[in-house]
Amino acid sequence: MAWRAAASLLALRDQVNAAWPNRSRVSDGTVGDARHRSRASDHNPWIRDGNMGVVSALDITHDPKNGSDAGKIAAAIRRSRDNRVKYIIWNRRISNSSPTGGEAAWAWRPYGGKNPHSKHMHISVKSAKSRYDSAAPWHIGASSVIADPVAPEPAQMPYLRRGSRSRMVKDLQALLIKHGQDLKRDGRFGEATELAVKAFQRKVGLVQDGEVGPKTWAALMVA
Ligand SMILES: [Zn+2]
Repeated sequence: MAWRAAASLLALRDQVNAAWPNRSRVSDGTVGDARHRSRASDHNPWIRDGNMGVVSALDITHDPKNGSDAGKIAAAIRRSRDNRVKYIIWNRRISNSSPTGGEAAWAWRPYGGKNPHSKHMHISVKSAKSRYDSAAPWHIGASSVIADPVAPEPAQMPYLRRGSRSRMVKDLQALLIKHGQDLKRDGRFGEATELAVKAFQRKVGLVQDGEVGPKTWAALMVA
């Protein structure tokens, strides 16, 4: 089934990217991979909009060194009581926008899921279209410019190929490793990285050119 991410979440991600352009995206994600798909998750496109599936969850990488502190973002969104939010998970705690488990709306409760969410925050938005597709600005705790809400994320990633010098090479290598490639995360785009990119491209049915453009980034960021 064709799917897309909820407009509210793309707006949020664009805002975070605009506020902290050098942030790592290594734990970012919208749509569920095969692993996610086998369980109930808002990363799966279970909401229907016409014949499109809509993904209503987003993960934002914790990268305080580059300003993108997932804990602070989670706190700012929670403080704003944004009416699009279903729940937020950060660092072993979950905050639901409606009263849950005897607790008041927005209270932090312990989160006992397998993944402690200490490397990324998770946000789910409500299933009503008026909520999930509202691209109004978010309160993320940064006095940032509001980015164009329709710009797709992979297009904002740098074009990388053998010899590229970019701090994103390390992120690329982490994503390749996550997708099963045997690789060292040394931050250098040499022969080993090129071979890993080609192997990954073969695996997902992309042209095996060993270069990382929007399509390869998009495939890598499915997580
Ligand atoms: Zn998540």
